[in-house]
Amino acid sequence: MKILVLNAGSSSLKYSLLEMVQTKVLIAGLLDRIGETGSVHRYQLANEQPQQVAVNIENHQQALQALFQLLTASQVLTDQRELACIGHRVVHGGEHFSQPTLITADVLSQLNATIPLAPLHNPANLLGIREAMQQMADIPQIAVFDTAFHQSLPDYAYRYALPGDLYTDHSVRRYGFHGTSHRYVAKLAAEFLAKPLAETNLITLHLGNGASVAAIANGRSVDTSMGMTPLEGLMMGSRSGDIDPAIVFYLSRTLDMSNADIENLLNKASGCKGVCGENDMRRIHALAESGSAEAKLALAMYAYRIKKYIGAYFAVLNRVDALVFTGGIGENDHWLRAACCENLSILGISLDTSKNLNPARPVADISSTDSKPAILVINTNEELEIALQAQACVAKQNAA
Ligand code: ADP
Repeated sequence: MKILVLNAGSSSLKYSLLEMVQTKVLIAGLLDRIGETGSVHRYQLANEQPQQVAVNIENHQQALQALFQLLTASQVLTDQRELACIGHRVVHGGEHFSQPTLITADVLSQLNATIPLAPLHNPANLLGIREAMQQMADIPQIAVFDTAFHQSLPDYAYRYALPGDLYTDHSVRRYGFHGTSHRYVAKLAAEFLAKPLAETNLITLHLGNGASVAAIANGRSVDTSMGMTPLEGLMMGSRSGDIDPAIVFYLSRTLDMSNADIENLLNKASGCKGVCGENDMRRIHALAESGSAEAKLALAMYAYRIKKYIGAYFAVLNRVDALVFTGGIGENDHWLRAACCENLSILGISLDTSKNLNPARPVADISSTDSKPAILVINTNEELEIALQAQACVAKQNAA
C-alpha cells in the first residue's frame, strides 16, 4: 500500500512516497523556488544518490505535474490509483480539527476559516490540497494537523489571560505546533521504555529551525511552548520566542515600525539570527569556536531557555519518565544536549557524557545509570507519522 505525503509551502512542495507494508520511503524530494527564477527539484529514490535538477516551475499545479512525471518515470508509481490516499500536512487546524480529517468540500471551507489563525502557513497548505484534489479527484485526501496533538491541553494551559470574548469570539488561545513530531517521538519513547503510551509521562523537545517543548502526561499533550502561532516559546533559528508583548508597542512608537515590519522582525530576523547573525546551529558553533562573543551568547541563551521550560514542565508533570531530544538540533547537537541537562541534578537528570557523543539511531538512551528520567535521542519522522495517521483515517472511514 502506497501513501503520498505532501507539504506545500508558499514557494515549495515537499513530498514523500511511502510503501506502508514495509514502512519504506520509495522517494522523497522537494520542489523549491516555485514561481521564482531558478526553481530546483531535489529528490532521492530509495538506495540511490540524491539528485538535483534545475526546472522551470511557475505554480503548484506545475509542481504536482512534475512530481507525477518523476514518479512514473522512475517507476515508483505507475498509476495514481496505486495510492491508498494522500496525506497533507496542515499547520493550523484551530479548535475545529483535533483529528486527521478526510477532506470534502465542507472541510475545505472550514479549512479556509482557519487562514486568519495562520496567514503565513495555511494558505500555502490549502493551495497544495486544492491542486492535489484537482489532479487526483478519486484519491482520498487527508489533512493532518500540526496543532491536533495539543488539543488535549486543559483550559488553564491554553487560555491567555485576556478578556474572555477574545477567546470565545475570536479564537485567541494557545494551540501549539509540531504535534506530529511530538506524537511520533512519544510513541517511540514509550515503546523503548516498554511502557504503554497511556501510562507514560514525557518532556519532548523538538529542536529544529522551529523549536518547541511539550509536556506529555499519560500519552497526552498537557502543555506546549508554542502558542496561538509558532512564534511563542523557545528561542529559535530566526524567531524570537517569548518576549514582553509591550516591546511591540515600543517598536511601533519609537522606531515607527509597521505591523508587517514587526511581524517580519520577530519571525525572520530574531532568535539566533538576531543575536549572532546566523540561524543555522552548525554555523553558530563554528562562529563560537572562532571566538564570536555573539555566537556564544546565542548558544547560552538557547540552552538556558530550554532549561527553564524543562524545569517548568517537571512542575506540570510531577513524574517524568523521559526527556526526549529530537529535530535536526536535538538529534545531532551533543553540545546543546549537554548544556540543556547541565546542573539539573535537582530534577534527577544525569547525562552520560560518552553516550551523549554518539547516540545510536533511531532511539538511544544517553542518561547515566543514576538518572531518574531516561534521556532519549529519537529521530523524528513527520512524514511517516502523517502517512500513518492518514492511513488510520481512511481505515476508519471505510469501516464506518
Ligand atoms: P526544520 O525545522 O526545518 O525541519 P531541522 O529539524 O532539519 O529543521 O533542523 C535544522 C537545524 O538542525 C539547523 O539549525 C541545523 O544547523 C541543525 N543541525 C543539523 N545537523 C546538525 C549537527 N550535526 N549539529 C548541530 N546542529 C545540526
